[in-house]
Amino acid sequence: MTIILFGPPGCGKGTQSELIAEKYKLKHISTGDILRTEMEMGTDLGLSAKKYVTEGKLMPDDVIIGMLMKFIQSNDASMKGVLLDGFPRTTAQAEALEEKLTLSNKQTNVLIDLRVNEEELISRMILRGKATERIDDNPETIKKRLQVYAEQTYQVKSFYQKLNKYVAVNGLGKIEDIFGNICIEIEKAI
Ligand code: ADP
Repeated sequence: MTIILFGPPGCGKGTQSELIAEKYKLKHISTGDILRTEMEMGTDLGLSAKKYVTEGKLMPDDVIIGMLMKFIQSNDASMKGVLLDGFPRTTAQAEALEEKLTLSNKQTNVLIDLRVNEEELISRMILRGKATERIDDNPETIKKRLQVYAEQTYQVKSFYQKLNKYVAVNGLGKIEDIFGNICIEIEKAI
């Protein structure tokens, strides 16, 4: 099973991913979390990520694709599949993912787009920036991330629409209500 949780920065992917991964026994793979761990550990990957993340830009596709493939490959028998959070973020990443899955006669079951308006996204990220140490949750980087999302990531939607794997879920409201709506879509798709 491969489920993608998609949506703009600040839409609640991280929060919902944890709930989904637990309920459906999926391995939660968050490219943002992986990069933050690498940055904390000061690895070569982390050092190169820091520049992109601070500026709100995407890491180069080849680096991210290589990194992600390692994580999907390491198969854990106790898991029923993977939940991708923060990947794919470009059409090239989506193509690489689907090519990889095709090799084992698989395909993404569904991409769930968590819809939240821009005003709400900005206020959530500003709040998170005050509560945590995320280097990218400041007004200037937030603006850049939203621009990068519109220019480079939003197009992933049409890639999955063409495959008939795209669904949208309202990301406003109570966490448990949003989760309930996500579960309905997952159950239709598996
Ligand atoms: P967000 O809250 O914006 O969804 P993430 O935690 O998913 O944040 O990602 C933080 C940063 O990590 C991004 O702004 C980007 O620099 C980098 N990053 C994460 N995933 C990818 C990806 N798939 N491709 C390129 N860069 C990525």
